[in-house]
Amino acid sequence: MLIRNASLAISGKDEPLSADLRITDGRIETIAPHISGDPDFDAGGALILPGGIDPHVHFYDPGYTDKEDFAHGTAFAASGGITTVIDMPCTSDPPVSNIDNLRAKLAVVGPKAHIDFGFFGGVSRQTFDAGYRADMNGLADSVLGFKVYAVSGMDDIWGALDHWRFEQVLEHAASIGQTVLLHAEDREYVDNASEHYRREGADPEHWYRARPELAEELAVSSAIRICRRIGGNLHIVHVGSAEAAAMIARAAAGDDGAVISGETCPQYLAFGLEDFRHLGAVLKVAPPIKSPGNDEGLWKQLASGGLLFCASDHAPGAPGEKEAGDIWCNSAGIAGTGTMLPYLFSEGYLAGRLSLSQLLKASGENAARRYGLFDRKGSIEEGKDADLAVFDPDGTWNVDQEAFLSKGTLSPFHGRMFAGALMKTIVRGVTVWDREKGLVGPAGHGQLITRGGRA
Ligand SMILES: [Zn+2]
Repeated sequence: MLIRNASLAISGKDEPLSADLRITDGRIETIAPHISGDPDFDAGGALILPGGIDPHVHFYDPGYTDKEDFAHGTAFAASGGITTVIDMPCTSDPPVSNIDNLRAKLAVVGPKAHIDFGFFGGVSRQTFDAGYRADMNGLADSVLGFKVYAVSGMDDIWGALDHWRFEQVLEHAASIGQTVLLHAEDREYVDNASEHYRREGADPEHWYRARPELAEELAVSSAIRICRRIGGNLHIVHVGSAEAAAMIARAAAGDDGAVISGETCPQYLAFGLEDFRHLGAVLKVAPPIKSPGNDEGLWKQLASGGLLFCASDHAPGAPGEKEAGDIWCNSAGIAGTGTMLPYLFSEGYLAGRLSLSQLLKASGENAARRYGLFDRKGSIEEGKDADLAVFDPDGTWNVDQEAFLSKGTLSPFHGRMFAGALMKTIVRGVTVWDREKGLVGPAGHGQLITRGGRA
C-alpha cells in the first residue's frame, strides 16, 4: 500500500511531517518526501495518527455475549481509530486466571477479532486461594499484566483482594517481570457507605456518595505504600479523582525502585456530577463520575504525563440492564472504545488541552511502552506495524449511539459534536474501517499481541 500526501503524527513532535508512506507485509517500510509509484490513496494532507491503543476493555467473550462480544467490540473500536485493544480478564467465562482458560478464550475470540488484541490475566480472592503463583507463572508469557480489585462488584465469583493478598500478588508479579493493574477504591469505605446510602435513596447522587473521591484516594494511597515497600510494578486503572492522580504522578516520579503509573478515561475528563444527575444510568460507571473540578486536574496530569494514558473501560450493559430500575440495580459501564480517540482528538488536541505529541502519548504510545509493545506498536516509524488512524482535522463527527457497531448503544457522548472526523482505520496495512463504507476488514484479521511478539 502506498499513501501519498500524508501529514504524519510522529512521536515526540508537535508538528506533523509531510511525507509519503509505503506499507509492505503489514509494516511501514518507507517514510519519505516522495515515493514513486501509483498511490492506493491520496491522503490530501489528512492527519495520520498511529492507530489508537485502548488498554482497558471488557468484551465479555465468551460467557456474557448478550452485553458485548469480540466481533462487535473490535468493530466499534476500529470505527473510532483504535487498532489494538487489551481485554480485561474477569468479564468472560472462563476468566483469564490460568493458561488453559486463556487458550479456551483465544479459540473463541481470535476468529472474531477485526483488530489486534492483548489479554490481561487476573487474580481474584478465589483464584488466589486456589494457588495463584503457578497460574501467574503459566500466564506470564501470554498476558500484558495482571488485574486485581480492591473492591469488586462480582465478589461471589471474582472477589477483591485485601491488602495482604494484594501485597503477595504484587511481589510475585514483580519477580516474574509483570505489572499488576488495580481497581482502586477502598472496600471498607465503599461497603459501609453503600449500605447507608442504599437506605437513603436511589438517585445518581447516592451512587456517588457511596464511592466518592475519598474512597479512591484511600485505596490509591494504600496501594502506593504497599508497592513502594516491596519495589513492585503497579498500574492504577480508571482514575477519576484529581488528588489520586496527583498522588500517582508523585509516586511515578519517585526513584525508590517501584514502578507506578495510572490511567484515566474520557468519561472522567468530560463529565461531572451535574451531568450524572441529568443523564442518570447512562453515565453510571464504577468508580463513579466525580464532582466538578476533578476533570481539570486529570487533563493537567494527562498532558504532563503524571497520568500515562487514557483508556475507555468499555463495558456496555445488555439491553435493559442500564435501565433496570434504580441507580443501584442499573449496570455500571459505558460503550466507550469507539469514542475515546475521536474525543481526545477533538477535546484534547484540537481544543488545545494536549499538544500533538501529548495526544499520541495519551492515545497509544505510552500504553505501548508500558505494556512492552513499543517495538511493534504505538508510533509511526519504519519497521513498525502499519497501524494507522486517518483524521480529517477540518471535519466533524456527530456522535450517534444508534449507529455504534458495539452491542452497547447507550453513550453519554450521544448527540455531541466532535471536531475532526476519522476517515480510515488501518491495521497492519489492511483497511478495516472506512468512513464511507463502514466496517470493511475481515473478522479474524486481529492477532493476539504478547510482550514477546505475536503468538
Ligand atoms: Zn474496567
